[in-house]
Amino acid sequence: MSQRLGHRAIVLGGSMAGLLAARVLAESFAEVVIVDRDELTGVTTARRGVPQGRHVHGLLARGQQILEELFPGFTSGATAAGIPTGDLGELRWFFGGARLKPSTTGLICVSATRPMLESHVRARVAALPNVSLIERADIVGITTTRDNSRVIGARIHRHAKGSTEEVLDAELVIDATGRGSRTPVWLDELGYGRPDEDRVKINISYTSRIYRLADESVLNGDLSINPVATPAAPRGAFFSRIEDGKCALSLTGVLGDSAPTDPDGFLEYARSLPVPDIYEIIRDAEPLSDAVVYRYLASVRRRYERLARFPKGFLVLGDAACSFNPAYGQGMTVAALEALTLREHLTRGMPEAAGFHQDISRVIDVPWDMAVGGDLSYPQVEGPRPLKVRIGNAYVAKVHAAATRDPEVTRAFMRVAGMVEAPTALMRPSMMLRVLRNGKPSESAPLPRTDSGTGSGPDSGPDDVRAARAA
Ligand SMILES: Cc1cc2nc3c(=O)[nH]c(=O)nc-3n(C[C@H](O)[C@H](O)[C@H](O)COP(=O)(O)OP(=O)(O)OC[C@H]3O[C@@H](n4cnc5c(N)ncnc54)[C@H](O)[C@@H]3O)c2cc1C
Repeated sequence: MSQRLGHRAIVLGGSMAGLLAARVLAESFAEVVIVDRDELTGVTTARRGVPQGRHVHGLLARGQQILEELFPGFTSGATAAGIPTGDLGELRWFFGGARLKPSTTGLICVSATRPMLESHVRARVAALPNVSLIERADIVGITTTRDNSRVIGARIHRHAKGSTEEVLDAELVIDATGRGSRTPVWLDELGYGRPDEDRVKINISYTSRIYRLADESVLNGDLSINPVATPAAPRGAFFSRIEDGKCALSLTGVLGDSAPTDPDGFLEYARSLPVPDIYEIIRDAEPLSDAVVYRYLASVRRRYERLARFPKGFLVLGDAACSFNPAYGQGMTVAALEALTLREHLTRGMPEAAGFHQDISRVIDVPWDMAVGGDLSYPQVEGPRPLKVRIGNAYVAKVHAAATRDPEVTRAFMRVAGMVEAPTALMRPSMMLRVLRNGKPSESAPLPRTDSGTGSGPDSGPDDVRAARAA
């Protein structure tokens, strides 16, 4: 541990992005302080500051690899603690109602709830001797030099009775406060202006419940069952075995559609999925929680790399920089990739904001294009569709169809969706040949059973489903 860059770095926000940033900062600073408004230590269930923690989270394969690199033995530790793991290509994946051919990829899926995954990462970070957590404290603002050219700390207010606002000094401050980050406002107040924002409105909902199965054999040994939403079958779900022998189910709806939270409506929505697998399992399972809903309006990308000026000693990462439509499962893995980018910058000296934000923008480009491109395959999603997007979406539909017949295509697709390889891997001539040979849309995929009209949203009723399929 060199600790050559400074006495203290502060990380604003102690969720996944903040914890991973703290992990790499600990290699270069004498002290790293993480500040969060929630109680963190020992917490393994959803908390107020991370409401999405109640919904199924998949850690992409690249994310698992980075966690293993930053915390050697992470995966075996998770398994030993009762978190199920499996091969990503062997999960029960469906696109447009058709099942992908299972394929052994060697890519590991760690099937933990979001709070449990975070608690394992947090335990490893908190064990570092030079990292400390300030819990139950609001981040009120940042402090700067008189001329506002450099950030020199943060203002925080602990929740403990009688506390007053205090200032923490630091040579480097990282904003990892998530989608609700105040950095655009702070920059504006300091005279730097707000960053441009790219937004793509998808209006997706997650409605989730936890279950215990009377008999796990109904899963046929599968770790998860994922009918992924597509324009042809816009209702989707993620159903996973999780820790403690439980299962978690998130039902997804796009463009305003949403599963009801009452038990009967929830079950009916599950019945309207393009495949019966999940409905048939949960109708006899014991619910352990009420259904909760999370509505996510739009993917948001803040273009900090485009600002003409940026204060020194201050960086933004994680959802604070870019928040993706969650259905693609990218957020935590992008945060992990950004932590590696930060580490690379730290090896060269005190990170310089412009260069860092340029570099994480390059990290964000591919997952952003994948997520936004996928969203734009829904005709109702607003946004420009240049030729690249139209060709890309037509090809991805063929990849999905080909993967229902050819396990090699499943394997290649999982490597790209898992962010282990770039999308160009699907364009290699031998792969294109397989995709074109096997990529005729499946005739046998059943129509989603939305006839009971359980969707609460105005935009994706049964007629829209059929129209989208016919298109
Ligand atoms: C429904 C849903 C499902 C998702 N599914 C997946 C998935 O399958 N896979 C995946 O990789 N990602 C998924 N994501 C995204 C994922 O949750 C985030 O990308 C991930 O949590 C990293 O976010 P973050 O650490 O940048 O911010 P957050 O997780 O939002 O954390 C921000 C932290 O900052 C703290 N904070 C904020 N403001 C203040 C303040 N003023 N004072 C003190 N503390 C503050 C909060 O308490 C919190 O701890 C999903 C998101 C949603 C909404």
